[in-house]
Amino acid sequence: MKKILITGAAGFLGSHLCDRFIKEGYHVTGMDNFITGDKKNISHLLDNPNFQFINHDVTEYIDFKDDLDYILHFASPASPIDYLKIPIQTLKVGSLGTHNLLGLAKAKEARILIASTSEIYGDPLVHPQTEDYYGNVNTIGPRGVYDEAKRFQESITMAYHTFHGVETRIVRIFNTYGPRMRLNDGRVIPAFMGQALRGEDLTVFGDGSQTRSFCYVDDQVEGIYKLLLSDYAKPVNIGNPHEITISDFAEEIIKLTGTTQKVIYKDLPVNDPMQRQPDISLAKKLLGWEPKVDRAEGMKITFDYFKSLTEDELYKSEHKDFTGYINK
Ligand code: NAD
Ligand code: UDP
Repeated sequence: MKKILITGAAGFLGSHLCDRFIKEGYHVTGMDNFITGDKKNISHLLDNPNFQFINHDVTEYIDFKDDLDYILHFASPASPIDYLKIPIQTLKVGSLGTHNLLGLAKAKEARILIASTSEIYGDPLVHPQTEDYYGNVNTIGPRGVYDEAKRFQESITMAYHTFHGVETRIVRIFNTYGPRMRLNDGRVIPAFMGQALRGEDLTVFGDGSQTRSFCYVDDQVEGIYKLLLSDYAKPVNIGNPHEITISDFAEEIIKLTGTTQKVIYKDLPVNDPMQRQPDISLAKKLLGWEPKVDRAEGMKITFDYFKSLTEDELYKSEHKDFTGYINK
């Protein structure tokens, strides 16, 4: 039985990856310190003999006794509001945490895949974004702590590959959504869906002309799975190229949810990327991968999930207006 360690296991993507690798017959160790995760995301796995959970902050030395074949490093705050609230932890998990996990991969002779992001392209001047684009990041802007940690993460991963011969993989993830996102994490999908469910107006930042391209979680997990098992060490974009403006997206959510609320406009956060769309030619060629779930279908599944939350969860997680904070 192959053994895999997944960091960030109690988070949105990490928990779906745990499910997938259990289903594929792996023994999975999930690691998390719950800083932005939730026990509920992995509670269904805790009695599974092929799953174990370790509560640990990966920025601290990782003392792991068992053998390992694979490591997926997904621990990191992932929403702009999270990394604005905990900037130092965000920098540390991308840098010190990645260093620890690369060291562990080297010691165990395990293959490691690290979760990078479209944010390494910053506010891109090339559209759609190809892997050979170097990016346009403001190092000292509000998003710099995340973007630069992820850029460092890619550099140290390549250095372990070329200098130590560690088998490494780098996935550049574009906006991914689905069940188990946190209702109050501030990302646009939970934000709009939470507002619709509570009968609040939908807050579009800026004039809403900025674009994003949303990928359903099952497609993302499939791309990551294929990349891990490939022999390609350089970064690969995984995302859904179907691009939409945020104001059109707000209208889609109004239709989907049937809310009678309207769109209201707030200030655009500093350095909010104006256009984002993955070029996925490389993933198609290399992995034979492309997304299969269209936005209408994925959003419906996601909305059903948010609808299933308790009143308590819905109101406890009331979306706050963080624009003032982001604009500092
Ligand atoms: P998430 O916040 O739901 O999950 C992150 C998990 O990492 C949480 O459970 C958190 O508690 C854990 N974590 C954070 N710091 C830790 C530490 N020091 N030690 C142990 N655990 C720690 O976010 P997500 O959307 O699931 O993102 C997972 C990964 O994917 C992140 O690395 C993120 O940068 C990357 N990513 C996600 C997206 C997306 O659209 N979801 C896009 C690009 C990149
Ligand atoms: N956004 C918005 N209203 C919200 C939350 C986000 O208009 O309540 C916008 C945000 O400014 C950005 C886009 O939606 O342009 C996607 O934001 P998100 O935080 O989901 O992810 P990002 O891609 O910016 O990291």
